[in-house]
Amino acid sequence: MRVFNFSAGPAMLPKEVMERAKEEFCSYGATGCGVIELSHRGKEFTEIIERAIRNTRELLNLSDEYSVLFIQGGASLQFAMIPMNLLAKGGFAEYVDSGVWASTAIKEAGRFGELKVIGSSKSTNYDRIPEVRHFKPNQGSSYLHITSNNTIYGTQYHYFPEMPREVPLIADMSSDIMSRVIDVNDFGLIYAGMQKNLGPSGCALVIIRKDLVERANKDLPTMLRYSTYVDHNSLFNTPSTFAIYLYALVTDWMKKKGGISAIEEINDAKSEALYETIDNSDFYKNPVEPSSRSRMNVVFTLPNDELGDKFVKEAAKAGLTGLKGHRSVGGIRASIYNAMPLEGVEVLIDFMHDFEKSNG
Ligand code: PMP
Repeated sequence: MRVFNFSAGPAMLPKEVMERAKEEFCSYGATGCGVIELSHRGKEFTEIIERAIRNTRELLNLSDEYSVLFIQGGASLQFAMIPMNLLAKGGFAEYVDSGVWASTAIKEAGRFGELKVIGSSKSTNYDRIPEVRHFKPNQGSSYLHITSNNTIYGTQYHYFPEMPREVPLIADMSSDIMSRVIDVNDFGLIYAGMQKNLGPSGCALVIIRKDLVERANKDLPTMLRYSTYVDHNSLFNTPSTFAIYLYALVTDWMKKKGGISAIEEINDAKSEALYETIDNSDFYKNPVEPSSRSRMNVVFTLPNDELGDKFVKEAAKAGLTGLKGHRSVGGIRASIYNAMPLEGVEVLIDFMHDFEKSNG
């Protein structure tokens, strides 16, 4: 039985994508080979990676000022590559601490230079996005790094600080990339581990403004320099061909759905329905400050931990899996990325009503 998988990542992918990948896994077009057996220099894979990049440009309305890169090592390698490439020697960078992933990025960047943490919601258990709307960078800052959606706490930026061009805004968008319309021109670099909205784990999508590539220290190891990926179209070495192939399929699917604005409408409907259910109940509670609520990860608690455990177990039996909150915060987390259909959320809401009736 195919369930509705609410896991935070790796997360569910569109059914059409999975079915197409299943077919092409063993036999890709007329090649007589499976897709993962194709040479990364061959004509078929060249078409796949070019389509992946073209789809990204179309979906995000990217100008030629930006390069689209595929880099192995997930989002976590970007925590290091960003300061290695972009933190000026002897300079400093600015970071916002909005949760575990943001603070992991901060810890990693701290190995490479001085940092200023210019906003944090740690003292309120990361229940909100720190107020940085009117933030002005300190003189000499190399960049400002934010985490646009905080997967564990269910918080999300609903605005972005406006930055001068020389101090680029950098965003970890691992858990909300391509889920809503953004203007990439507001950013110098955005990156995302693919395993939530884009495809399989282990690979990151990186979109970088080309003038920043030139800033990097030329002594960096080849594989840790953005310029290597730009100069070789992400094909300096053998890339994760299967990840790029699946990403091409997922972005084909997004285009077929009508692009990011159409997907955003569905994401709004899904999250609004869930928050309404929680807000209309005394049984379920959402701990997030309302203006910081995420449209990707909806977290909630029940009156006690035993009921929470029971909820997760019974939901799984009803075909609703992956609902256990992150081990660091507990409770329930429904991750409702692009591939989760509205129907999945409706089934979850019905289950929540039934569970409350029997246990409330
Ligand atoms: N940033 C965010 C916001 C995440 O949610 C995650 C993973 N859940 C990461 C970074 C780390 O990603 P990866 O495992 O691809 O390194």
